Amino acid sequence: MTLKLYNTLTRKKEVFKPIKKGFVGMYSCGPTVYWYQHIGNLRTYIFSDILKRVLIYNGYNVKQVMNITDVGHLTSDSDEGEDKIEKAAKKEGKKAQDIADFYLKIFKQDFKKLNISEPEIWCKATKHIKEQIDLVKKLEKKGFTYKTSDGIYFNTSKLKDYGKLAKLKIENLQAGKRVSICEKKNKTDFALWKFSEKPGKRQQEWKSPWGIGFPGWHVECSAMSSKYLGEQFDIHTGGEDHIPVHHTNEIAQSEAAFGKKPWVKFWIHGAFLKLLGEKMSKSKGGIARISDLENQGYEPLTFRYLVLTGHYKKQINFSLNNLFNARNSYNKLINIIRNFKDDKKVNKEYLKKFEEAINNDLDMPKALQVLWAFVRDKKVVGKVQTIKKMDEIFGLDLLKKEKIIIPNNIRKLADEREKARQNKDWKKADEIREKIKRLGYSIDDDKEGLKIKFLKK
Ligand code: AMP
Ligand code: ZN
Repeated sequence: MTLKLYNTLTRKKEVFKPIKKGFVGMYSCGPTVYWYQHIGNLRTYIFSDILKRVLIYNGYNVKQVMNITDVGHLTSDSDEGEDKIEKAAKKEGKKAQDIADFYLKIFKQDFKKLNISEPEIWCKATKHIKEQIDLVKKLEKKGFTYKTSDGIYFNTSKLKDYGKLAKLKIENLQAGKRVSICEKKNKTDFALWKFSEKPGKRQQEWKSPWGIGFPGWHVECSAMSSKYLGEQFDIHTGGEDHIPVHHTNEIAQSEAAFGKKPWVKFWIHGAFLKLLGEKMSKSKGGIARISDLENQGYEPLTFRYLVLTGHYKKQINFSLNNLFNARNSYNKLINIIRNFKDDKKVNKEYLKKFEEAINNDLDMPKALQVLWAFVRDKKVVGKVQTIKKMDEIFGLDLLKKEKIIIPNNIRKLADEREKARQNKDWKKADEIREKIKRLGYSIDDDKEGLKIKFLKK
């Protein structure tokens, strides 16, 4: 079977062919760990997880590398403003690495909750300073850099095809609100190494041949990907916002340093998740986290289900109403599947339709349709084994029979009821039991403690 993927570089759906037979090297831009990752960020990681699962399903051995940005990402994407980690450390009165480790820990917990598989390699920018300095040295030797009063910059006018990923029209980029020029030679030039304004004041800074400072944001991705995947590799992923600046600059410095074109064969980008029509962003506030959804009584996997109902290239407008509908569908699905008996057979016909969907540029909405048609088809055999195979991609725990999906609001009510019972307030306890029942759950007290069950509808 052929796997087709949409390549941002060529703006075409292309048949995927790896550089090395049977092996895929994949780099996914990871989080900047100065704050919690919101459900928009997590949508992008669900997308790269699905991509990885589809590659593995197609028989490839996948090595995925994900960076952790713990230095150098400034509050403005055009190399100005404060370092996000330093700013957070100051605000919270903590060490920069404690900030990074705290938010990374939560991020990894969210991965687990959402069944997102971990990359083979996690790499922190601060643990690869030497590699980044070496890359800048290489660029300097080849004549791609120049010095200003605040750092070492990449001269984008030295590359004929700068901006090809985003199809940037350089002459249209006006200096001004978004693109400011200062001492830069060209509007699109970007920092490779920034000098500390006052050495000794920053928490994270290093010596370099050019002066004490820290690496520019884009450098880490080129330096670390080449360390772990080689100077040319198969797939690079990230959110769609990275196309015009971050990925454009990664390509520029990597093609200049390594001399391989294209540096990465496939660029695959996930569309945004919007909140009430707005871009959800950490810097603007107004974000929702997985734990916020849990506090509203939603299991994390209902969010994964919601994400899979949209194609990764289409934006999703998030609302609690959408999530509510996704939860209903997901719970219904689990309850139907729970009753299937395993006849050890696989249904080739449905599996083929499913494989066509996933291999057609990860068409998960179509794959879900196939799953629904399959579970509803009364005439077919092979229910359990076929669903098991499909769940290798969905990652929705479709066969976890013992798993009873109990939202947090039900748990809270159960706790309240337990308190009422302990206070011998039987009337209140019964009222709460009825309320829980109306919400579709039953509650039993036995010797081992409380048992909550989902009522079958
Ligand atoms: P950051 O931590 O800001 O570097 O972002 C981590 C990842 O999330 C990047 O791949 C971004 O492109 C992606 N991202 C940021 N905001 C959103 C959003 N609202 N929806 C989907 N992906 C996003
Ligand atoms: Zn990156």
